[in-house]
Amino acid sequence: MHHPSTSQSESSALAYMRARMAEADSMFRNGLAAAAQPSDILKLSRTLLDICTEVSDGLNSICKVSPVACRSGCDTCCRSLIQVNPIFARLALDYARRTFTPERLEMLHQRLLTDVTFCPFLFDGACSIYDQRPMVCRG
Ligand code: SF4
Repeated sequence: MHHPSTSQSESSALAYMRARMAEADSMFRNGLAAAAQPSDILKLSRTLLDICTEVSDGLNSICKVSPVACRSGCDTCCRSLIQVNPIFARLALDYARRTFTPERLEMLHQRLLTDVTFCPFLFDGACSIYDQRPMVCRG
């Protein structure tokens, strides 16, 4: 059965995603070519994450769907093994260094050394780096 409004919003979502991803791609390529020091890469990663947040908000307004399961108090995905792009892992670590207490930072350090079976950034059932969480976590 054909649903014109659904397919219309799906194709505008697709066009929107293509345009924004092309923009992010060229921003990242140019930025990478011009990067002179590690802090430039961090800045680039932050910009990329900001674009991801905007795209996610933009998609939510184009295709109105109710959230599947992601809500405060649920840490199911954070207890699974996920793969994180190294640039986002670096960003998360930088955020932790700037915002964690020394005790929490030490706990994170131990977790990273001991191969825990859940995300090392999960504390008290919540993401401790929520604003800077990697792209994969935003899905
Ligand atoms: S970074 Fe945050 S949202 Fe992502 S898996 Fe870890 S605790 Fe969960």
